[in-house]
Amino acid sequence: MAYFSPLCLNSSFLPPSLNHLQGGACRCPQSYSSFCFHARTRSKPICASTTKAEPQGRKEDIVIVGAGIAGLATAVSLHRLGIGSLVLEQDDSLRTGGTSLTLFKNGWRVLDAIGVGSDLRSQFLEIQGMAVKSEDGRELRSFRFKDEDESQEVRAVERRILLETLANQLPPESVQFSSKLAKIETSANGETLLELVDGSRLYAKIVIGCDGVRSPVARWMGFSEPNYVGHYAYRGLGYYPSGQPFEPKVNYVYGRGLRAGYVPVSPTKVYWFICFNNPSPGPKITDPAALKKQAKELVRNWPAELLNIIDLTPDDTIIRTPLVDRWLWPAISPPASRGRVVLVGDAWHPMTPNLGQGACCALEDAVVLARKLADATKSETASVEEALRSYGSERWPRIFPLTIRANVVGSLLQWENPVVCSVRNSLVIPKLVRLGPVLEHTNFDCEPLLEGTKI
Ligand SMILES: Cc1cc2nc3c(=O)[nH]c(=O)nc-3n(C[C@H](O)[C@H](O)[C@H](O)COP(=O)(O)OP(=O)(O)OC[C@H]3O[C@@H](n4cnc5c(N)ncnc54)[C@H](O)[C@@H]3O)c2cc1C
Repeated sequence: MAYFSPLCLNSSFLPPSLNHLQGGACRCPQSYSSFCFHARTRSKPICASTTKAEPQGRKEDIVIVGAGIAGLATAVSLHRLGIGSLVLEQDDSLRTGGTSLTLFKNGWRVLDAIGVGSDLRSQFLEIQGMAVKSEDGRELRSFRFKDEDESQEVRAVERRILLETLANQLPPESVQFSSKLAKIETSANGETLLELVDGSRLYAKIVIGCDGVRSPVARWMGFSEPNYVGHYAYRGLGYYPSGQPFEPKVNYVYGRGLRAGYVPVSPTKVYWFICFNNPSPGPKITDPAALKKQAKELVRNWPAELLNIIDLTPDDTIIRTPLVDRWLWPAISPPASRGRVVLVGDAWHPMTPNLGQGACCALEDAVVLARKLADATKSETASVEEALRSYGSERWPRIFPLTIRANVVGSLLQWENPVVCSVRNSLVIPKLVRLGPVLEHTNFDCEPLLEGTKI
């Protein structure tokens, strides 16, 4: 059984900006040692001290930057293995708007492993299959997921609910909001100094960068900016207060340089997206009325049900995102870790959403990293640095090909040439495509993460 420092904070040590951590706030699971810092049974502590008065900054063991899917899943995975962490989030709350994500069976294996699968399953419809249509509404092909793979599980999950469910697994005060990382550097004693935009400073033994596609942690580690892939996506979540009318399947509509899709999420919500070719990402537009108008304009002659879903979409769920990725070329891209700083999720491997794998892979990363870290804390010989390197080596062969594959699939689906599109619609989709092999990447084994289980 590995018990690890949960980092209780003594209020007298806190700067005024961190007063919300007072009042007995403690990120300890009940099972952690009562006065928090020393591991009960682990043989080799990663850290020797916890929060204490420091003129230059507060001390933490593990700091996770970013309370998105990667950050919260990593914190929950560590927590399940008896390891505490502090999550810093730049916003003043979890992301409350936003749309939904399709999670395949690999995502569900991880959610089960960290103990939130059943809770989420009960709120979201299981999607039985998919139908592919041409822009005039003609069905080109349909598939049933279970016919291709009996163990496949597909559900579209509201991002807000996924984040809240993960955050609810953590001890109080595990997530510190309004805490935007401004600067990161290695300090003389080997710890990592994190400076926030409000000027407050933390020294962390281990930093896990889960700060998304524009990750400052990745930039500091030498990663390039992600590349715009030539199309962007409009997304929204249609709301049907009296119940949505659709069968539980993903519907794709393929046009020329333009494609759309919609999928029921729950009895009252339907997620939709439109991908559109554009040579540049263009200016950031946040006005939902303008975005809705643009989205409708793009598909104005397409099946009416798509336009109806867009019409029924509340403003706060409509967004437009330029699609980006970063290919982790061997020997060119930096490794996933530098010393005791490591990347998880989009911060490390932004990928286009064409395979619906970005969040699924972030969840996979989280459990793999947590296991390696917990293992290192129990071992007499393994170091944290080695554990982080081993995480990078294990995950890279999974992530790199998937990123390329997602990009290639997107490029093929965004073809504009009328002849190529006609061959796609009359031959490739109806006769040649097999779904089973296309979804093989969703195979991922994952045992439950429980304190004391073999890691
Ligand atoms: C159009 C589209 C559709 C998608 N569909 C799917 C899908 O169907 N299935 C799927 O699996 N994936 C999908 N994805 C991918 C998925 O959204 C991402 O892979 C996933 O959100 C990655 O999670 P993350 O936690 O790594 O990053 P994010 O979700 O971006 O979270 C990063 C967090 O870090 C915080 N942060 C950033 N900078 C700082 C800072 N300086 N200091 C403190 N905090 C900071 C942010 O506020 C945010 O909370 C889609 C992506 C797009 C663009």
